[in-house]
Amino acid sequence: MTGRVDVHLHLSRWWRDLPRTAYRPDLDLGVPSLLAEMDRAGIDRGLVLQLFEAPSSAEGLAEGRSVAGASGGRLHPVATVDPTAGEAVVHETIENWGREPDLVAIKLYPGYRAFYPHDPRLDPVYEYARRRRLPVMIHQGDTLDGIGLVKYARPIEVDEVAGRYRDLSFVLCHFGNPWVEEAAEIVYKNPNVHADTSGLLAHPSAPYFARMVDRARRRLYNAIVTVGSPDRILYGSDWPLEELTVAVDLVRGLDLPAEDLDAILGGNARRLFRLPEPAPRRTGSS
Ligand SMILES: [Zn+2]
Repeated sequence: MTGRVDVHLHLSRWWRDLPRTAYRPDLDLGVPSLLAEMDRAGIDRGLVLQLFEAPSSAEGLAEGRSVAGASGGRLHPVATVDPTAGEAVVHETIENWGREPDLVAIKLYPGYRAFYPHDPRLDPVYEYARRRRLPVMIHQGDTLDGIGLVKYARPIEVDEVAGRYRDLSFVLCHFGNPWVEEAAEIVYKNPNVHADTSGLLAHPSAPYFARMVDRARRRLYNAIVTVGSPDRILYGSDWPLEELTVAVDLVRGLDLPAEDLDAILGGNARRLFRLPEPAPRRTGSS
């Protein structure tokens, strides 16, 4: 067991466009093939982040439950809520979360939706997450296919709410890409803020893809040095947009001590999301 944890995976039948945006168009988007790919990349556990496209919170949660159930305990569900859907929907969604003991985090999608992380409509969500000790993961930076407005998804917009909810943990997804240095400052300044390494690469068909891997690694390295510690950096891929071995190698290639890489690749996530140990037996290949 490597103890590796991928904190940023997606698997949903409501993401219709996935075959086009996946790192390989013929990728099989089922739990067994995801587990087999995790085995090849030496990843024991993963967090599956619910998308905002699910027709209702109940259906999104049911999908998360069935994915987790089919994984033999290796995949953990993360729920979402859209605060622009109205107070009643937010209230009902939080009520539904109460019936989901296996949730390990909440994911928000500012940028894709028109709200800032410090929007007061999110206060009931933060209060709930605090009571239940669920970290809040926040989409940051670039949006797929140029939809939405990235002004809502800048790391600096998390600063205020991180200060307001000191005893709640936040994760800046995609390390704020392209505002990686800005994200590093928000992590450095706020002891309750983390960042994940997912989604820092373009589609492998992009002409500069190989150069982009090197550049992403340099940016990541500089950001971690700015933060001054590996303790709040979490490995993630954004699978199926990124291949797991490529995402793991991006982190493994960082010029940091082996124990720091182990922390980034799994130890920090196991602690933050309070994942059970030891990891369950692997299923699939290898
Ligand atoms: Zn994602």
